[in-house]
Amino acid sequence: IHYEGFTEEESQELRRAGVVVSTLEQIKGWARSNSLWPMTFGLACCAIEMMGAGASHYDLDRFGIIFRASPRQSDVMIVAGTVTKKMAPLLRRLYDQMPDPKWVIAMGSCATAGGPYVRSYSVVKGVDQIVPVDVYIPGCPPSPPALIYGLNKLQEKIRTEAAGKRVSS
Ligand code: SF4
Repeated sequence: IHYEGFTEEESQELRRAGVVVSTLEQIKGWARSNSLWPMTFGLACCAIEMMGAGASHYDLDRFGIIFRASPRQSDVMIVAGTVTKKMAPLLRRLYDQMPDPKWVIAMGSCATAGGPYVRSYSVVKGVDQIVPVDVYIPGCPPSPPALIYGLNKLQEKIRTEAAGKRVSS
């Protein structure tokens, strides 16, 4: 590790002395990424896999990921299922009720691009038309390990952005 603002020799000396150099933003990013609170919110079959990921076998709690029953207590929206045009304004309202900073995961092909209902008049062809998406998880449905991988990617993204670097979705 090369500490920013220090020469390579200084960085080495700090490491040898057991000194960790960080910024407040990086510490906040580390804390936030390890205490994600997704909203209890499912739309269709993908939500069953999301519930499976939260249950004892896959145990999302071990990553500090704990579901909350209110958007006002949540910082992650996992869009798990088909987004219909009728549901779209309500989904946006829930997103608006979440405090900043907040993140969105599009779980499955429906949330990503309309999935098997892509030709339906009633389905939104991707939730990113309604809210900004940070992580897309492919699959119909994605398995609990795939969701865990997506959540780990989100944690990585939060930490990387806290370090002042840009990450694309
Ligand atoms: Fe159901 Fe497949 Fe759509 Fe998920 S992606 S909500 S499993 S149809």
